[in-house]
Parts: sequence; C-alpha cells; structure tokens
Amino acid sequence: MNAYTSRVLEGLKARNPHESEFLQAATEILDSLSPVFDKHPEYEAAGLLERFVEPERVILFRVPWVDDQGKTQINRAYRVQYNSAIGPYKGGIRLHPSVNLSILKFLGLEQILKNSLTGLPIGGGKGGSDFDPKGKSDREVMAFCQSFITELYRHIGADTDVPAGDIGTGAREIGYMYGQYKRLTGLYEGVLTGKGLTYGGSLGRKQATGYGLCYFTKNMLEANGKSIDGQTVVVSGSGNVAIYAAEKITQMGAKVVAMSDSNGYIYDANGINLDVVKQIKEVERGRIKEYAARVPGSVYTEGCKGIWTIKCDIALPCATQNELDGEAAKTLVANGCYCVAEGANMPSTLEATETFLSNDVLFGPGKAANAGGVATSALEMSQNSQRLSWTFEEVDEKLKGIMAGIFNQCAAAAAEYGDKPTNYVIGANTAGFLKVAEAMMAQGIV
Ligand code: NDP
Repeated sequence: MNAYTSRVLEGLKARNPHESEFLQAATEILDSLSPVFDKHPEYEAAGLLERFVEPERVILFRVPWVDDQGKTQINRAYRVQYNSAIGPYKGGIRLHPSVNLSILKFLGLEQILKNSLTGLPIGGGKGGSDFDPKGKSDREVMAFCQSFITELYRHIGADTDVPAGDIGTGAREIGYMYGQYKRLTGLYEGVLTGKGLTYGGSLGRKQATGYGLCYFTKNMLEANGKSIDGQTVVVSGSGNVAIYAAEKITQMGAKVVAMSDSNGYIYDANGINLDVVKQIKEVERGRIKEYAARVPGSVYTEGCKGIWTIKCDIALPCATQNELDGEAAKTLVANGCYCVAEGANMPSTLEATETFLSNDVLFGPGKAANAGGVATSALEMSQNSQRLSWTFEEVDEKLKGIMAGIFNQCAAAAAEYGDKPTNYVIGANTAGFLKVAEAMMAQGIV
C-alpha cells in the first residue's frame, strides 16, 4: 500500500474503531487503489481519498410503529448518502436485525464503485433499519414502512436519492414505502426502484441481480477459455439474488446442487427444483428445510456454512456479507472449484478473497458481478422519467450489454493496474474509482 492510502486507512481505523465491516471493505478498496495514487499525485493534493471515504451525509432516525398486540415498537433507521459526484444517491434499503452504521457504510462505499461501473449516472448510497420483517404480519410490515418513509421522505426524491430493495426489502415493502411517499408528497415519481409492474416497476428488475451475475460469470469464464455448460454449481441463500442466479445458470446448462438460508442448506444431487424453492420462499415465506420434505432424494443440513463443503465447479455466494471465510475458501479450492462470483455484497472475507486470488480461482467481486440489480434500477428510473415501459427482452438485452461492459472494464483495469490480468478485484475497484475521482476533481473541493 502506498504512503497516502495507508495514512488514510490508519485515519479511518482511528476514527471508526468499532466499524469492522466498514473497515474490511475500506481495507480491500484502498489496498487495490494504491497504484492509482502512485499515478495521480494530484489526487492527494486535493484530499480526494479523505473525501471519498467519508459519507457526504448520514441520516439517523427512529421509527415508531404499533404491533398487532397494540404495543409500541421503536426501530433505528439510517440513510447513508455517500457520494453524489456522478449522479443522485442510489442504493438499497436493508431490513435485518443486524443492521448498523458499519454495515451500511461498507455497503454504501461498495455501492459508489458498483454504480460507477454500470456506466450509468448514479451516485452511491445505502440505508436500512434493524427491523426484522420475518415473522411479522403484513399489517405490521406496512406500519413500519409507513413510519420509516414518514421520516425519510424529506431526504429522498427522483433527482436526489433513489432507494431500492435489499435483504428484507422486497416488492411488498417497496410497495408500502412508495404508497406512503406518494401520499405525503403528492408526487408520482420514480423515487424508489423495485416497484410493482402496475405502478412504475420495470420488467426484469426482479431477475436482474441474479441474471446479471450469470452474465458476468459467463463473460469471465469465456475470457479465460471456459464455459458454464455442464458445470456443477453451489448457490448460497434462497432470496431474490440466489433464486434468479440459480434460474439463469440452470438455463445456461449448469446444474445447481445446493441452496441455503440462514438456518441451513439443502443438497439435491439431481439438481435443485426451483419451482419448489420459489413456492417455499416467494409464496409461503417459509424455510429452505421444507424442500427436503417435498423433494425425494434431497437432504437438509442444519447450519449454513457447511454448504461450502459441497463439491462444485462454480460457487455463487448470494446470501450476505462474510458468509464465506478463509477455511471455506480453502475447502472449495481443494474440492476443485475454479470460479467464484459474488451475488451478495462482500460475502467473502479478506482471507477468502486472498485464497481465491492466490490459487488462480476466477473471482468476480460483488461490486462488479452483482451490479446488474442497480443497473436495472437505473433503467427503471429512465423508464419512469420518460413515462415508458420497456419489454422484458429490451431490459434483458440492455442488462447483458451492461454486464459485458462491466467485465470489460474490470479486465482492462486489471491488465493496467493489477498484479495479474485476472485480478478483477483490483480491476473493479480501480475502474469504478477512476470515473468518480475524475468527476470529484472536476467539481472542486465539495
Ligand atoms: P433476500 O432478503 O431476498 O435474501 C437473503 C438471503 O440470504 C436469504 O436466503 C437469507 O436467509 C440469507 N441470509 C440473510 N442474512 C443471512 C445471514 N446473516 N446468514 C446466512 N444467510 C443469511 O436478499 P437479497 O437476495 O436481495 O440479497 C442477498 C445479497 O445480495 C445481499 O448481500 C445484498 O446486499 C446483495 N445484493 C442484492 C441486490 C438485489 O437486487 N436484491 C443487488 C445487489 C446485491 P433467511 O431467509 O434465513 O434470512
């Protein structure tokens, strides 16, 4: 690491000592960016990195709501408006009991670079709350979402900050939030993405992150003389990203043999039956273990980390941050896995990433590989502005082009700045950063 990046990182550690996820993401990014600062001394003179790592604004607020027993509940919520150099803040809302400022800052920092990689005019942001939608009635979820937006609405807008879904925030939650925003402001505008198809949502948005992950993986494999067809795949998670990654990679000729949730994983040597997974997860909001009861020959194992002991060619971690540690990475490599592409944000620990890179595993980092979701959100914003609806095929074609563009940028930047041409971690961080840096330099000290 060069002197400037390591000084900024030390400053971050001193100022945010308890923010472990944020420091993990910052360490990986700053480490990758060292060669950029060697080449651009003017960035240091402008304090560019100090400004880049500090959010432009963090909004923290309480969310009071009343549960079905008539009891008042209070959650804590945040919006991190991280960087608006290249467009309005854009990034999802996470609803999960683990949510804290460290997690949202790590996600926001990653989001800046991811959004830049899409080539679309979107800045970086992230938000969420420690509210847990799991086990709540629809009325309770609505009460929470309405209260959440009653505070947040004054900070967001189609041209300022456009939130979207993330863990725990799906079509139901976005619908309640959109309704409340419209009621408070009287505006029918594209302030949230991931909306339902009858009120401004985009065809293909639901599938976009998972499908985009597979398009990125295909590009990465083909550039290295390999193919998805006939490969065995493990997908962690069974939420929005995991389901549509499993769907697309199966369409591409691979066999998905395992999926998981936060309680455990299923193994099905015949290939996962996605209709059953969708019924359990999307319709019934149930647990993945029910799959084993419905599909003969499949096996459920308690505990989600064991999924990485299953032999596979390609691993797609699509659940959450740090779900794949150094030990799991070594097991995957020992079992012959040669390709890992991240559907989730930072699912691999720093040690796991290092293990993949040093063993020449083709590794697609989340900020590049899962950028199809936010890219399609930006396409939803375009459709809303134009008052148009594109067909599924139009959106999917655009998504394919965007994912190819992202892979090409990562490969070009890896070739120029990386220790090897397949270091797409350096590639993604550098390509994403350079565009934001140029915009920040042009806009002066703000
Ligand atoms: P969902 O809420 O739809 O699904 C999340 C999945 O991950 C569920 O199967 C969930 O299991 C599992 N999970 C959540 N937390 C944990 C945990 N602590 N340990 C183990 N498993 C866990 O979320 P998404 O599919 O939307 O998001 C998944 C990941 O992809 C996140 O990292 C998100 O930031 C990222 N992402 C999402 C995008 C999108 O468009 N949705 C875009 C880009 C990235 P359970 O049901 O048991 O909680």
